[in-house]
Amino acid sequence: MKKKGLLIVISGPSGAGKGTVCKEWLKRNPEAVLSVSATTRKPRPMEVDGVNYFFISREEFEKMIEDNEFLEYAEVYGNYYGTPRRFVQEKLMEGKDVILEIDIQGALQVKERFDDGVFIFIIPPTMEELKRRIVKRGTEDPDVILQRFTSAFEEINFIKRYNYVVVNDQVEEAVRKIDAIVLAEKCRVDRNNYLIMYLKGEI
Ligand code: 5GP
Repeated sequence: MKKKGLLIVISGPSGAGKGTVCKEWLKRNPEAVLSVSATTRKPRPMEVDGVNYFFISREEFEKMIEDNEFLEYAEVYGNYYGTPRRFVQEKLMEGKDVILEIDIQGALQVKERFDDGVFIFIIPPTMEELKRRIVKRGTEDPDVILQRFTSAFEEINFIKRYNYVVVNDQVEEAVRKIDAIVLAEKCRVDRNNYLIMYLKGEI
């Protein structure tokens, strides 16, 4: 009997460093897979279609919504972002752990559907540091920066809906904590019913 993979949802305000933390975690866990989202946002310099995102038009995105191809989707800062459903479901069934790096609206939608996922909220050490990181990225104009920073204050209120919080001060430390969370989740009794059945010779 194949054990299903674990769905790991990494979320939190823009600038908390979700992307960096996910990337580093994946380096250490090469057997896990990242879900590549679709977006209508324009690619930033260095971003590659199919690697960072699937960059598609609004029309294409709306067609995918209609065809129920998303596990979740949301409009974030004027652009659509969504998680293609099929990839995630296939990988989980293959026994692979799947990591999603998505915004808070999306994470809450996933929680409705996958109660057995692990929901991790990444926060910055301080709000000053958050602002510094958004500005430092240098890819957004001042209006967008302000919008992202203002949203961050509101988004932090949703933390109660998550299972874990990780402060991303040092990336190394944040990644270590996510490893620990994932390991503990895999040892949960309710995720290991099959072990008991196996020991009892039932399977
Ligand atoms: P960015 O434009 O900086 O790449 O992403 C903006 C926000 O959209 C980030 O908070 C990012 O986590 C989120 N995001 C990326 N992909 C998805 C997705 O598939 N669904 C949702 N709901 N949010 C996403």
